[in-house]
Amino acid sequence: MSDPRRLIPGTDSVLAEPRIAAAVRTLGRPLVKAAVAEAQRRARTGEIAPEDVVDAAVGHLPERACGLRPVINATGVLVHTNLGRAPLSGAARDAVMAAAGCTDVEFDLTEGRRARRGRGALAALAEAVPDARAVHVVNNNAAALLLCALALAPGREIVISRGELVEIGDGFRIPELLASTGARLREVGTTNRTHVRDYAEAIGPDTAFVLKVHASNFHISGFTAAADMSELARLGPPLVVDIGSGLLAPHPLLPREPDAATALRAGAALVTASGDKLLGGPQAGLLLGEAGLVERLRRHPAARALRVDKLTLAALEATLRGPEPPVRAALAADEAVLRERASRLAERLRAEGVPAEVLRTEAAVGGGGAPEVTLPSAAVGLPARFGPLLRTGAVPVIGRLERGRCLLDLRTVGAEEEQSVLEAVLAAAGGRGDDHRREPPCR
Ligand SMILES: *Cc1c(COP(=O)(O)O)cnc(C)c1O
Repeated sequence: MSDPRRLIPGTDSVLAEPRIAAAVRTLGRPLVKAAVAEAQRRARTGEIAPEDVVDAAVGHLPERACGLRPVINATGVLVHTNLGRAPLSGAARDAVMAAAGCTDVEFDLTEGRRARRGRGALAALAEAVPDARAVHVVNNNAAALLLCALALAPGREIVISRGELVEIGDGFRIPELLASTGARLREVGTTNRTHVRDYAEAIGPDTAFVLKVHASNFHISGFTAAADMSELARLGPPLVVDIGSGLLAPHPLLPREPDAATALRAGAALVTASGDKLLGGPQAGLLLGEAGLVERLRRHPAARALRVDKLTLAALEATLRGPEPPVRAALAADEAVLRERASRLAERLRAEGVPAEVLRTEAAVGGGGAPEVTLPSAAVGLPARFGPLLRTGAVPVIGRLERGRCLLDLRTVGAEEEQSVLEAVLAAAGGRGDDHRREPPCR
């Protein structure tokens, strides 16, 4: 007789429910209202009973006010661009939390007056690379290159090898980035071979600097030649070296990967690098080199537009001073240990009836670094159908599809994440991975 839709509680009365009111305080009104509206909509269609609207609304609440969700990287790609590149160390996360409120980023607490912004992070970077006379930090490596071109080469030439005109990703190209500043690119040599004399012949009064860009995301072999850094440094104009991945010193497992200390010792006037690749820290662009040049960059008007925020400075300092960040630990992990971890995890899964096996795999550095390097690793292999189930579970686990199986590579899974992986796989196997409806996947 009466329309059941009449019984659906109104928005104000649902918002007054203690659980919903509490959510308004942590998530804010609009997100909670959206969850309530979704529950009311389901009641109107008859999908749920009117008296279940509050429970349903609670179920629709997002976990936090930000749509980004933590995921577990089980891809075996150490620096995964789609997954936010380097995961921060516990120390760096803690530093971010500490700096999140008001902080002394630009204030001297003893003297009670303005202090150099980010001095702790800059000091840590300078100490980590004693060969650098001065250091500066900007938004990312692209910003570091942009600042070099803006400050040192307006209306002048940047001499660069044709073999180093690199596309970084998503259609972004270093030569276009540099040209956008009004600097002219003077391309020398060929795709496969560029000699010191090619640079020497191109250098003239218009030359602002010579740029060497690490071919980080591809590898050419065969009939190739590249100019030696120390010879380029002796040609006269400043040598700027984009080392890419942010190794501050040579790494035994990555012999082809350039590092800041070696480049500076070879005579580079400036080195640029990313903070969130092999350094294992936050997104940042590191600039290291001669004091006069670094000061010119720092004083350029655009430097203000490229500067980093307090959270980045906090995370960078903790990455440099604190314990080994996850990317470095993953790089150094012993294959036998990974195999043992994979075996234990597979065994626990099989004990619960999940068809899991241990597979030998090859992990990769990723993030456009060391494409020629593969790292022997071990994975738990599951039926392919687990791929999407794990991706959309309460704690998303991102594996990789290979050999018709869903592989969870242990090299990129922290030991502290193993229990979560186990629970995620069990939930997926039991069809209990339906928590995903609570939050839309992050885009
Ligand atoms: C990754 C990379 C860049 C871009 O660095 P971002 O920090 O992503 O801006 C530039 N040059 C090289 C050689 C790289 O490897």
